[in-house]
Amino acid sequence: MEIEEVYSRQQLDEAEGRQINELIARSQRIIPDPDGWLDEELKRNILVTSVDAVLDWARRTSLWPVFCFPACCAFEFMTTAASRFDISRFGMEIVRASPRQGDLMITAGTLTWKMAPQVKRIYDQMAEPKWVIAMGACAISGGIFRSSYSVVPGYNRIIPIDVYVPGCPPRPEALRYGIRMLHKKISKTSITRGVR
Ligand code: SF4
Repeated sequence: MEIEEVYSRQQLDEAEGRQINELIARSQRIIPDPDGWLDEELKRNILVTSVDAVLDWARRTSLWPVFCFPACCAFEFMTTAASRFDISRFGMEIVRASPRQGDLMITAGTLTWKMAPQVKRIYDQMAEPKWVIAMGACAISGGIFRSSYSVVPGYNRIIPIDVYVPGCPPRPEALRYGIRMLHKKISKTSITRGVR
């Protein structure tokens, strides 16, 4: 005996047709993306950058100078650090007495050969990465004492120099410009490839 069909083919087709018509009616309006709010949140809260850019930004905005001021250019550095020129805006107000806590040596003044080993030792004790600014004619080339038997004709004879700031002495504006140039140099550093 055949089993009686509960639904005829026609009834099934009609039911399916109704379902499709309902879907078509509802599809006139696009269903909003339930995660749409995320786009706005991402735009407001997420900054996409590279590790290099973040590290360079952190390094250049928190340079801590180390004392190395054997002569008169030191006074111009003191002026640069004081309120009028205010290097604290560059995150540099903490001048360290210990080389282990500093990453920028500003060499300001005449260096004698007798003092040279101490300066080299201070440089060696600074943590990497580290930078050096040669401030003034004496630091760059020995200045007016260049031909003296006892004077080092430029700090670059004993340690690498990143930025030279000429003058006798350089004014605070010049030192500030040198610091900005160093910032630019630091911005081009890559942790994997050195200087870009
Ligand atoms: S450059 Fe001029 S101001 Fe600076 S340490 Fe030499 S002599 Fe002094």
